[in-house]
Amino acid sequence: MDYAHSRAEASAYAEAALSLMQERGVPANPNNFTLWYGYFSGDFPDLKQALDILLSSSEPISEEVSAQIFRKFCAHPLEAVPLHLIAEKMETEVATAVAALEQACRNAATYNQSLELATGQMAQIPNMSGLINLMTALLTQTRAMSHQSRDVERQLRQSWSEVTHLREQLEGARREAMTDALTGLANRKMFDFVLRESASEAMESHEPLSLLLLDIDHFKMFNDTYGHHVGDQVLKLLASVLRESLKGQDTAARYGGEEFAVLLPRTEIDDAVKVAEKIRQRVAGKVIIHRKSQEQLGRVNVSIGVAMFAFGEPLRRFVERADRGLYRAKRGGRNCVVSEISDEQNPVALSG
Ligand code: GH3
Ligand code: MG
Ligand code: MG
Repeated sequence: MDYAHSRAEASAYAEAALSLMQERGVPANPNNFTLWYGYFSGDFPDLKQALDILLSSSEPISEEVSAQIFRKFCAHPLEAVPLHLIAEKMETEVATAVAALEQACRNAATYNQSLELATGQMAQIPNMSGLINLMTALLTQTRAMSHQSRDVERQLRQSWSEVTHLREQLEGARREAMTDALTGLANRKMFDFVLRESASEAMESHEPLSLLLLDIDHFKMFNDTYGHHVGDQVLKLLASVLRESLKGQDTAARYGGEEFAVLLPRTEIDDAVKVAEKIRQRVAGKVIIHRKSQEQLGRVNVSIGVAMFAFGEPLRRFVERADRGLYRAKRGGRNCVVSEISDEQNPVALSG
């Protein structure tokens, strides 16, 4: 986490953090202080959102939840994986491999010179013992050359396996940075990236591209009734419904707290509505069961807005159009799908 606050700002955030921790009975240890200082600074919207959820509930803020949030936002795996160290190690390994190859070239050149020299000397050798001496010297050099080649090969193999390992670490860190830690879906950053890519592919290929925006209905009430942990379990359940309802080309992402986005390349609006409807029904069909007590907690519903990309429009507008559908779905009674085509035929199409 980086801070660029004036002394006065820092004091104000620190005071606010300390008084909130005291008020809510949160131990003022360095990790909790970091969380609440970050909260009041407003520099970390995701952290702020997570802590707002905690504040909105009257449940005590447990050490466990605080530690979880700290791990998620302040000790992000990306920070734990020192990317610059991986890059430095890669450079060292590549430099070692290059040095080994250069040495191999020098050895080969020296050996070549020795062979040429020996060829020149051969004509002038007066007797058999001179020839044997020359051959013995050549044989010694050939053996040395062979050893050196094996050393270079071993060095290259070692560098290769180290670089492969580092590459895997980098790939893991990259995946981590693009994945939502709770649900395992793409995160907002990844979604924004895929949206840009998909929109330009759609324009190039003249293939349709559709977008669903989903929001869980009355989720605040669910959280307040059953607690944040159960709420998180519901978010995971929703993610699994999305996974099982989509094809390989589609991207499901956690767009914000309890909002999800689904990008459907090569999909016309009416097919996108069908996918949305399938998701809505599957979610509605799931009974939430408390993991520990096995008690049935009821069901949750989702409202879904659907839009199809108009080639060339700003991406912000594309998302806003899906969001407008979502808004109408909420206003129309929730647990339903509203798209632009339903706008035309029926201002608030209730399919629930
Ligand atoms: P609506 O039907 O209008 O969408 O009502 P709502 O209560 O779902 O909407 P609102 O935006 O008022 O509340 C969103 C709630 O989602 C707030 C918070 O309790 C919950 N929430 C957001 N992110 C998370 C999360 O990461 N975990 C949990 N457990 N709850 C979350
Ligand atoms: Mg919401
Ligand atoms: Mg909601």
